[in-house]
Amino acid sequence: MDIRNGFVETIGQTPLIRLNALSDETGCEILGKAEFLNPGGSVKDRAALSIIRDAEQRGLLRPGGTVVEGTAGNTGIGLAHICNARGYRCLIVIPDTQSQEKIDLLRLLGAEVKLVPAVPYRDPNNYIKVSARLAQEMDNAIWANQFDNLANRQAHYTTTGPEIWQQTAGKINAWVAAIGTGGTFAGVSLYLKEQNPQIYCVVADPLGSAYFSYVKTGELKSAGSSITEGIGNSRITGNLEQVPLDDALQITDLACVKMVYHLLKKEGLFLGSSTGINVAAAVQLAQQLGAGHTIVTILCDGGARYQSRLFNQTWLQQKGLWPEEFN
Ligand code: PMP
Repeated sequence: MDIRNGFVETIGQTPLIRLNALSDETGCEILGKAEFLNPGGSVKDRAALSIIRDAEQRGLLRPGGTVVEGTAGNTGIGLAHICNARGYRCLIVIPDTQSQEKIDLLRLLGAEVKLVPAVPYRDPNNYIKVSARLAQEMDNAIWANQFDNLANRQAHYTTTGPEIWQQTAGKINAWVAAIGTGGTFAGVSLYLKEQNPQIYCVVADPLGSAYFSYVKTGELKSAGSSITEGIGNSRITGNLEQVPLDDALQITDLACVKMVYHLLKKEGLFLGSSTGINVAAAVQLAQQLGAGHTIVTILCDGGARYQSRLFNQTWLQQKGLWPEEFN
């Protein structure tokens, strides 16, 4: 018998998918870890579970307690699902600029949603700061703190990394992924380097994020902006400390758009914007390294979460991101 015990045991052990058209074209094996198949729909289910388990084990979260986080995206969705499955309250603080779809989904999942003005991190009313304060003021509550809580990267060090190593039987030359909190990139990189220090660990960076400049010049600088969601950052988070960044590739929104449509039409995979950045970077890396290499990346979440924007021709045209060749 092979039965998963509820939501929590359904997280992880995702398939590694060979992207056939891209692999055949480049002569490399381009493999995507299917994190969109997690039960909450994204790679963040692993981090959410790890953060909650760690707090339980430390005695910080007891039955009937509350999980608080400042997030607009997949982490909030993962936390809300696990809170339902484990009987916790979930309180999500979110900037009021975020899409109504996300707010509605979080509420549907039973999370209490507190809207705050979208102000910079240095402002005490910033959503991350508000979530930290609220957690501190409540009894039997934790602040998930995904950016600096190392239980995040630990999830990937103990599960995602080993799964990739086993699924490729150690035949992997490079690993490439974008960074939001850095949990995925860090945990997988640290594990793979321990198995084989030759594995090339490369950041896929959208415009407006500072890691490309950091790797190339040592300075955390960014320029431009991106339509991608959940990735890009401007600081070395706790999760990224002491993590090897062997190289970085900067990927434009146009390349991302072309890639998500390629995945949809040629590979049969309907996936989100961060996946577009990851796979576009994997293809660039394949071209740099030459045929015969195995490159692994993450297929972070599904396309349905981006239907009104990334998969909306009018919206893309307004942004100047509708590729000529699609006409
Ligand atoms: N893709 C998506 C869609 C995400 O929501 C996130 C998390 N913010 C990431 C990628 C990046 O993952 P991590 O936080 O582990 O760097």
